[in-house]
Amino acid sequence: MQSLLIKNGKVLLFKNDDVIIEPKDILIQNGKIAKIENRITEDDISENITESNANSEKIYTINAKGTIVMPGLINTHAHIPMSIFRVSTEGCSLYEWLNEKIWPIENNLTKEDIYYASMLSFIEMISTGTTCINDQYFMPEEIRKAAYKLKVRAVLTRPLIDTDGTLNEKIKEFREFYETRDKQNDLITYTVSPHSLYTCSDNCLQKTADLAKEYNLPVHIHFLESIDEISDIQKMHKMPASKVLKKYFDGIHTILAHCVKLNDEDIAILKTMNCGIAHNPVSNLMLGCKIADTTKYLKQGLNVALRNRWTRLWK
Ligand SMILES: [Zn+2]
Repeated sequence: MQSLLIKNGKVLLFKNDDVIIEPKDILIQNGKIAKIENRITEDDISENITESNANSEKIYTINAKGTIVMPGLINTHAHIPMSIFRVSTEGCSLYEWLNEKIWPIENNLTKEDIYYASMLSFIEMISTGTTCINDQYFMPEEIRKAAYKLKVRAVLTRPLIDTDGTLNEKIKEFREFYETRDKQNDLITYTVSPHSLYTCSDNCLQKTADLAKEYNLPVHIHFLESIDEISDIQKMHKMPASKVLKKYFDGIHTILAHCVKLNDEDIAILKTMNCGIAHNPVSNLMLGCKIADTTKYLKQGLNVALRNRWTRLWK
């Protein structure tokens, strides 16, 4: 049995729907919280050790003095390797940034670039308390390699898009990626991920919905991030964005990244679906999209996660 004792920290706890912070010690045994008490010593743990398990018993102690002890944060929408591009948004709208900067650079990325950029991002996230990341990026086998190495929890995928006529190739890549997973590793799980409604045709959306049902996986998609999308989606799919979403993904657990531009009709439709919103205000402000009215969404009963930048302010 392995025991981890976290001592002298201020522990973030939930009490009567409120968040409180109290000085406590925490004992974790075999990956589960066994005790949260005012004071736990190594002697308290040793009392439970019998001669038969004494050899396999290890106690690790962390002195958390001066820190807050809390559950790991979850990054609900990321493109993990993209931290290396974080200064590239300056003065761009979303479409300018994607078309003129990001997509041309991404065409030149190597597997090695993706692997080391992922390592960098994971290390930054771990250092700021993020222990689970929901991702959407290409060459995911390199991201998975980095995640295995650092033992982070991640939700990975191979994003699908058909603006360049290579949808079938991308679906094949997704299948290979998913089917070569390590089934013993429960830290890594998967989504099916159409990039967005404005970059995926009806054919692409149908195929992604079919894949999600075939593998019983959630869907992760960008949704109504910028004002331009509203008319583009209407033009491409001949109906409003939320109706397109409902048409293809109704009944499938769907994670919607951004959702800055929801109107009342969109909110009413999303309420009938099994979906959660991953709102990214810093990214949205940097690309001039404004931010979502999350108070209204929450009051209407939508499920909203707030994602901030993971960058650490290094001293
Ligand atoms: Zn995104």
